[in-house]
Amino acid sequence: MNLIDKKNIKVLFISIAIVAITGMSFSCSQSISEDNNNEKYSGKHAKYVFYFIGDGMGLTQINSAENYMAALQGEIGVKRLSISKLATQGYVTTYAQNRYITGSAAAGTALATGHKTSISTISMDGDHQNKLKTVAEMAKEKGMKVGIITTVDIDHATPACFYAHQPSRGMFFDISLDLINSNFDFFGGGDFKESSEIRDGKTINLVEFAQESGYKYIKTKKEFNKLNTKSGKVIAIGPIMAMGNTLRYSIDQTEEDISLADFTTKAIELLDNEKGFFIMAEGGKIDWACHANDAATTIHEVLDLDNAVKVALKFYEKHPKETLIVVVSDHETGGMTLGFAGMGYESSLQNLKYQKVSFEEFSNIINNYKKNKTKPSFEEILKLIENNFGIGDKEKGLELTEFEKKQIFAAYVESFSNKNKKVHKKNKMSKKQKNKKRNSQTYLLYGGYEPITLAATRILDNKVGLAWTTYSHTGMPVPVHAQGVGSQIFKGYYDNTEVPKKIMTVLGVE
Ligand SMILES: [Zn+2]
Repeated sequence: MNLIDKKNIKVLFISIAIVAITGMSFSCSQSISEDNNNEKYSGKHAKYVFYFIGDGMGLTQINSAENYMAALQGEIGVKRLSISKLATQGYVTTYAQNRYITGSAAAGTALATGHKTSISTISMDGDHQNKLKTVAEMAKEKGMKVGIITTVDIDHATPACFYAHQPSRGMFFDISLDLINSNFDFFGGGDFKESSEIRDGKTINLVEFAQESGYKYIKTKKEFNKLNTKSGKVIAIGPIMAMGNTLRYSIDQTEEDISLADFTTKAIELLDNEKGFFIMAEGGKIDWACHANDAATTIHEVLDLDNAVKVALKFYEKHPKETLIVVVSDHETGGMTLGFAGMGYESSLQNLKYQKVSFEEFSNIINNYKKNKTKPSFEEILKLIENNFGIGDKEKGLELTEFEKKQIFAAYVESFSNKNKKVHKKNKMSKKQKNKKRNSQTYLLYGGYEPITLAATRILDNKVGLAWTTYSHTGMPVPVHAQGVGSQIFKGYYDNTEVPKKIMTVLGVE
């Protein structure tokens, strides 16, 4: 053995020693495997649970609202929402049983029951053989009062996943019957999608059936304000309905509306009792605004949800040892991101304040021209856009480039052309037809929305340094936030099915 060999042996021994020591230190520290995936809570059970779901709310949706609030004050940075001030933060994966990019029914089922299921299924297994019990039903069985609140129609996929069991999210009438039969104590937000249907030769009117089943069904703000602990079981609908029997977008709401925070406040007032309550409140139109790629409306919806979280936090401050607050999302929508090619490293989210109405309201303005069979001039359209979105106004720094004017003109032509505007019935199209439609220039530019509106929101969003990749959902993991009893078990990176399982352990109902 020569000198070099001896040296090599020495190096080898040192290496082995290092590996051994490192290995030892690893075994002494935390496990780096799936340590948070099924962590259970073992303390005193929570008496009050708030479960907030921001539909379509990814990290960008939250962060853009925070950046917007800071930018309004002339600051670079973030003004933190209450949501992101909660004690623990984590991330959850969102995929469905049969598709990576999920939908609200499959994700809602995961968040309500702790089980993966197939796309469009409401709290049943993927083959529609078995019903899956929800955390809200477990809370009810435990004797707690249960409230379900949403900004969209009350029979929509996310709220439905907490009280209904149906093979398809589109079975609105059956979902509504499940709602009435759930015996839950409070429903608030948007209305039923359908009013009546014939079953076994008999016409069933949903409102009448709800009243016969002991629910007070109210639709005015006056009646809403009068509700009290003696009101019994309540279905409270917002006084003004937007498209699809939903609450109006927060950006369009006035004093006449009832906001998500108002519904949350009322639910606390009606449901507080010695056995506690479980309240699920959904910001359902964050998703809708993101489908339409409308950043200002999205941000207002996120702030609206945050206001409801603030209501829960106020309650938590009075009952810190008995309350759990969880805020999560079902999936991200739109592929929203901060940064746009045309702006390089620049962003100016404060300019979103110039948008005065949601894409829906602006579409109504344009569609009214069509209904009245009048065609505005292109100049009139440019003025309308300037008044409602600020773009085109030099003083605001939102002057239109020639390219942007061309984009608006193309949308104007598309909007007022006499082309056949057949509404596609989504489910009737084959996969091939759907792909063909999705790759058409018209779809890629306007996503099936009113073209001038889409052009206006896109140009404003791009000008403030914000962009979108899709009119659908994305497969990104989403954040989860928690505060209060057992909140420590919500930190980490895990699957969405673990969220309700964790809540069940905190409630002691698993
Ligand atoms: Zn959606």
